[in-house]
Amino acid sequence: MLTERLYRQDPYIVSIRAKVLEINAGKGCFDVVFDRTVLFPEGGGQPSDLGSVTTDAGATYEISLAFDKALDGPVYHRIKADAQDLALTVGEEVTLDLDFDQRFQNMQRHSGEHILSGAFYLTCGGANKGFHMGKDYITIDIDLGGRTVTAEELRAAERAANQAIWDDLPFHTEFYPNAAAANEAPVRKVVDLEGVISVVFVGDPDDPFDCVACCGTHVQSAGEIGLIKIYKTEVNKGMNRIYFDCGSRAFDRVCEEIDILTELANRYSTAKENLLHKVDVEAERSKALRETLSSLTAFYREQRSAEFARLWSEAGGAVHIAADELDPDDLLKFAFACIEKVAPSDALAVITHQGSRTAILVSSGNSYDCGKLVKEHAFACGGKGGGRKDNARAVFPGVKEMLKFVSLLV
Ligand SMILES: [Zn+2]
Repeated sequence: MLTERLYRQDPYIVSIRAKVLEINAGKGCFDVVFDRTVLFPEGGGQPSDLGSVTTDAGATYEISLAFDKALDGPVYHRIKADAQDLALTVGEEVTLDLDFDQRFQNMQRHSGEHILSGAFYLTCGGANKGFHMGKDYITIDIDLGGRTVTAEELRAAERAANQAIWDDLPFHTEFYPNAAAANEAPVRKVVDLEGVISVVFVGDPDDPFDCVACCGTHVQSAGEIGLIKIYKTEVNKGMNRIYFDCGSRAFDRVCEEIDILTELANRYSTAKENLLHKVDVEAERSKALRETLSSLTAFYREQRSAEFARLWSEAGGAVHIAADELDPDDLLKFAFACIEKVAPSDALAVITHQGSRTAILVSSGNSYDCGKLVKEHAFACGGKGGGRKDNARAVFPGVKEMLKFVSLLV
C-alpha cells in the first residue's frame, strides 16, 4: 500500500489527518504506514524527520524514525510502544504532526548543500561525488580531477554560495517522467535513476545557479538558509572533503568559535587581530625557556651525580638520592649519570621522585639486578613496575610505600 508524500509538493505542511493502513510489529516498536504523510523518510544523505501521531481518543506516540524501502513505496513510521499499550487500529483516522524545527534545520542544511555544491561546480568545475550530513557538520567530496582545492577557490565557492543566499534565489522542483527527460534539464550530474525524477532548480530555471536531481526537502528560497560556512577541508581518496554547515547550526558554530577567540584574546591581553603574532611571540619565548631549562638541568644533573659519587665512595653498595626537583622525564638520564661517575664497580643508584612517587634503579650491572629487585620488593610494598638488569622503574600509590621500598634496598 502506497503513502502519498505531501512533503514533495509542500514541505511546509506540519499537521495532517491520515488513515492507518498497516501496523507492523517489531521489537518493542511498531512501524506504521499511513495513506499520506508529511514526514520525510531518511535517504539521500538527509536524516529522517521526527514527529508524532495522535488518535482521536487522545493517545499520542512519538515517531522516532520514518523510512522507506523503495522510492515510491510505503513510508514506515516507527513508534515505540508495547503491544498491550498500543491504541491504534488499521483503518482509523489520526493526526500526524511533524517536528518542524528539526525539519527546518534539515532543509537549511540540505538546501545549503545544493548551493555549495553548485558553487564549487560554477566557480572551479568541481564535481560533488559524496555527501554526508553529520551531527556536527556536513561533508561533500569535491572532485577536481585529483587536484587539491586552493584557499582562493574555497573562498570563492563559499562567497558565491553566500551570494546566492543574499540574492534570495528561489528553489523550484520540476518532475520529469524519466531519466532521459530529466537529463534534458541543465543538471550538473547525469541522472541514471528509474521512474519519475524530481529535479531541483536554484535560481532562474532558464539559467539556474544550480540544477540537480533530488527527492529531499528544500527551502522555498535561499534566504531561509541564512548562512553557509566552510569549516575546513582535507584530501580524501584524491578528492577534497569540505566540512561545512548551514543555517542555525553554522550560526551556533560561528558564535562558539568567536567566543573562543574572544576568550583567547582576553587571556593574551591583546586584540583578536593580534592573536597570531602574540602566539608566535609566546612560542619563541617558550622555546628559549626550554633551552635554558635544558642547560640548567644538565648542570644540575652533573652537580647531583657528583654528590652521588661522593656518597658512594663513603658508603659503597646502594645509595639513595632524592631528586624531587627534577622533571620525572629526566630521572633515568640522571640515574645513569650517577652510575657513570662510579663505574665500573658494584653500585646501585636508587633515585626517587616524590611528585610522581617513582623510584628508578640503575646499576653498573654486576651485583645488582634492578629488574629482579623491583620484582622482589616493589610489589611487596604495593608498587608496580619492572625493567632490565641494569635499570628498572617502580611506581607506588604513596610516598610512604616508596620510602619503604627504598629502605629495603639501601
Ligand atoms: Zn535536495
